[in-house]
Amino acid sequence: MNIWVYIDHFKGSALPTSWETLGAAKSLGATVTGLVLGSGVEALAQQAFEHGADAVFMSDDPSLADFRPELFSSTIAAADSSYPDAIFLPTSTRGREIAAMLAIDLNSGVLVDVTGLEMSGDQLVVTRPVYSGKIFAKESCSSKPQIVTLRGRAFPKPASIAGKTGEVKKIPAKTEALTTVAGYSASEGGVSLTDAGVIVSGGRGVSNNPSLQAPAGLDEKAAEIWRAQQGFKLVGDLASVLGAAMGASRAAVDAGYIPYSHQVGQTGKVVSPDLYIACGISGAIQHLAGMRTSKVIIGINKDAEAPIFKVARYGVVGDLYAILPALTESFKKKLGK
Ligand SMILES: Cc1cc2nc3c(=O)[nH]c(=O)nc-3n(C[C@H](O)[C@H](O)[C@H](O)COP(=O)(O)OP(=O)(O)OC[C@H]3O[C@@H](n4cnc5c(N)ncnc54)[C@H](O)[C@@H]3O)c2cc1C
Repeated sequence: MNIWVYIDHFKGSALPTSWETLGAAKSLGATVTGLVLGSGVEALAQQAFEHGADAVFMSDDPSLADFRPELFSSTIAAADSSYPDAIFLPTSTRGREIAAMLAIDLNSGVLVDVTGLEMSGDQLVVTRPVYSGKIFAKESCSSKPQIVTLRGRAFPKPASIAGKTGEVKKIPAKTEALTTVAGYSASEGGVSLTDAGVIVSGGRGVSNNPSLQAPAGLDEKAAEIWRAQQGFKLVGDLASVLGAAMGASRAAVDAGYIPYSHQVGQTGKVVSPDLYIACGISGAIQHLAGMRTSKVIIGINKDAEAPIFKVARYGVVGDLYAILPALTESFKKKLGK
């Protein structure tokens, strides 16, 4: 079996899920070719070998310095006339865009956000969560190459083999783009949600502390946001002690407590950390869709009947304003911080 794996990166820095995707392809016993596209990406090609690629197709061209899906997709589609059995990509924003365009370019099907892979004879069968993660479907694609995007952190990262090399085949870049990238603006720092091993998330409950007296002169909405900021500071303190990323529910985002980039769920980011701590989040189905594959879930909620406790391994019934500082202090002591 031959599989091409798209190595997703930003300015030459690979997403950890790229290596997980490569490792997942190798685990099927396939011959794996890394697809490395960009400008100044020779080092990335070498890293692909070190993470297990048997060969690399590299398109190193200034026209590929910025990600533009139409160029990346058409470059991959023209890479080699003998297509592999499957093309794997990480389920990143870029991975999804390329997968969709490749499926059109190659007249094939695409299976997205896959969390499991197996072979049935010579047919690849994938497992993917459907209905907001309530059930897992097994699916396969009758056309070839099968295009598959793999969920981040659903597959182990392969051990790297320092100094391993192989054959790099240079492929020409497509250069006629329909779009131009005007520039980038930095988002706020911190740990990337989709790569995080630990996530501490806050919901509407973070603004609920009636004993907190907002500064005078604020109207009702401004006072609510001020209270939410105090609550999110407690969420952030715990996240920082644990080296965790900070997530949020849509209610918290819609209320203006925290930017959308933190939203977890059906219309936000899909995450699979080792530990997910939900603070003041009820556990609506649309939130669960984004985090129910987390390995351990802890719910902190005042309401013992909150649905989050149905998916949580550990539940703490109580006020997050009392529990979060106590947890942060204990972790500080335990971790010697
Ligand atoms: C099409 C669609 C897409 C959606 N996509 C998403 C999505 O991507 N992500 C998402 O999250 N939601 C999404 N939603 C919204 C979702 O349905 C819920 O409205 C939302 O998740 C609720 O957020 P919440 O749990 O923070 O708020 P609430 O449901 O209001 O829950 C707040 C919780 O905080 C608890 N609480 C209050 N005060 C405290 C305190 N001091 N200490 C401890 N606990 C406290 C309460 O008991 C309550 O359980 C979507 C909805 C639709 C219709």
